[in-house]
Formats: sequence, structure tokens, C-alpha cells
Amino acid sequence: MSEEKNYFAKGVEWPVIGFMAVVHIVPVVLCILYPSWPGVVSFLILYLITGLGVTIGYHRKLTHSSFDSPMWVNKVLAVMGLLSGEGPPVFWVALHRKHHKFSDLEGDPHSPITDNFWWAHMLWIFPKQHKVKLGALYGKWAPDLVKVPFYQFLEKSYFFWHLGLLAIVYGTGYYYGLHFSEAHSASYMAMSFVAWGFFFRMIWVLHATWMVNSASHIWGYKNYKTTDESRNNPVVAVLAYGEGWHNNHHYTQSAVNHGHRWWEFDVSFVVIMLFAVLSYPLKWVGLGKYRLAYRLRFYNHKEGKLKTWFPRKKDKKVKKVLSGSV
Ligand SMILES: [Zn+2]
Ligand SMILES: [Zn+2]
Repeated sequence: MSEEKNYFAKGVEWPVIGFMAVVHIVPVVLCILYPSWPGVVSFLILYLITGLGVTIGYHRKLTHSSFDSPMWVNKVLAVMGLLSGEGPPVFWVALHRKHHKFSDLEGDPHSPITDNFWWAHMLWIFPKQHKVKLGALYGKWAPDLVKVPFYQFLEKSYFFWHLGLLAIVYGTGYYYGLHFSEAHSASYMAMSFVAWGFFFRMIWVLHATWMVNSASHIWGYKNYKTTDESRNNPVVAVLAYGEGWHNNHHYTQSAVNHGHRWWEFDVSFVVIMLFAVLSYPLKWVGLGKYRLAYRLRFYNHKEGKLKTWFPRKKDKKVKKVLSGSV
């Protein structure tokens, strides 16, 4: 952090600091007190749900529209992303689009180059956010999302969703302990699920995805010359479901695939492909627009261009055939 900059001159966001303090301190204590394998499984399941909520929902769908999907799918993905603890969708999307606009230059909300590692990693969320400024930021960078009442609702009800999930995780653990666990009591399993599935999972997902902003702008290799310091970082790619191929992403931001070479494995892309393939048969009966994912913007690095996978054009043709007009 450069000395002349006073990042916290306008105060700090105490609710954010409090929230982060709780989700960092509580799991250390609870995971030691309540270890169990079913608790670890609850961690893995919620790591998948909320992690993909960020990578597929917040990032590839809501920020970059790298594939098309029905509104209900977008809303489910937004809730999954929200449960990661990274803020409501409009906030996330606005800040991320600004990051792309000013990558590693003055104006980038989280750059380890203009500032430092810890600022880019997590400190940038702590300064006081003035409501008026935040509103202007949303209007400028995420006007498409501001228009959707559901995303506004998520903004206002943000903490309640976490409390709801906490209750569900506790209840599931209690039910598991009551009916399936011989080694531990119901209340022990409830606390174990809360420790691993709720708290430990949250810090894991937060740091895995925060590393995209910090580590993937410092360490790794570049496939492409970009105006920023974005890198392809295999460790971050594994932890953050393919998001670590960040130099590729900065080069082709709307591409649905962040991995461009065959060895650049990208879990988020695989899941989006599964969405597209499994719901593909809807197209045969003229219901193509109800598919979970279609019109995937795939970047073919050998040809150096974006191609549309699972397009919609043929849907119309099929519809015409079905209706007898062709
Ligand atoms: Zn970046
Ligand atoms: Zn992006």
C-alpha cells in the first residue's frame, strides 16, 4: 500500500468487518471441537454450490453473459453466489466490470500492482461504502442488473439468506445425527455441519475466489499479451473451479471457457457444458429457450475467435417443422 494513500480515511464498513471476523474466527474453534466426516462432506457440497454460484453465476453469467439461460436459472445462480459471502450480485458485478475496465491501473478496485497483495485479496472490501456513491457505481457498471427487482431484493435481504442457510445446515446436521450417526449425538452433528459446511466452507470459498484477484495478477504464466498483469495460475484454477486461467479470461472476457489449452482444466466450463447438454433435448420440441444454458460463447484459441456453441437459430427451424410451416 503506498504511503500517501489513506484507504480508510472515510471510515470502515463495520458490518463487513464484523461478518468477516465471525466467519474467520468461529470455524477455527468449531472445527476443532466438532470434527466429523459427514461434516467434511457438507463442506464439499456447499463448496461446490456456493463456489459455482460465484464462478458460473456471478462471474460468467451475470458479469460477462458468456452464455444464455432462462431468468429463473440466473436467479438461482445469483442466490448460490450470494451464499458465498462475497456480497450481493449487483455489488459483485459492478466492481468486477470496473476491474476489467481499469485492470491494474488507477481505478481498479483490487489490484496487487497499483496497491498490494492483501489489498487486492481482501482489504479492498473494508473501507466505508457511501450509499450514494454505491448507487452511482451500480448505475454505471451494472445497469442491466439494477433493473431486475429480484437482484434489488437480494441487496436488501443479504444477511437473511445466510441466516437461512445456517438454519438449514444446522437442521440437516441435527437430522443426520438423529437418524444416521451412531458415534455422535444429534446436537454434535448439527454443530459439526455448521462448523464445516457453513463457516469453514465460507472462508475456503472466499479465499479461493479472492486469490483470482490477488495471486492470479502476480504469479503464473501468460498465454496472451494483455495490458494488465493477469496470469494463468494452476493452483487458483483448481481451487476456484477454473477461474485461475485469468490471463485467458482477461484476453477474452466473454468466453465461457477460461481454460484455452487442453491441460487448462476448467470445472465451471464443464458444468456449464453439462447444463447445455442435459437440457439440449428441449430444443427438439421447440422449447429451446427453456434450456438451462445455450448460446455458449466458446473461444477457440487455435482459430483465435469466439464461436457460438448450442445456438438458438435452429430452434426456430425446428419450431417451424413442428408447426408444419417448412
Ligand atoms: Zn483480473
Ligand atoms: Zn471477469
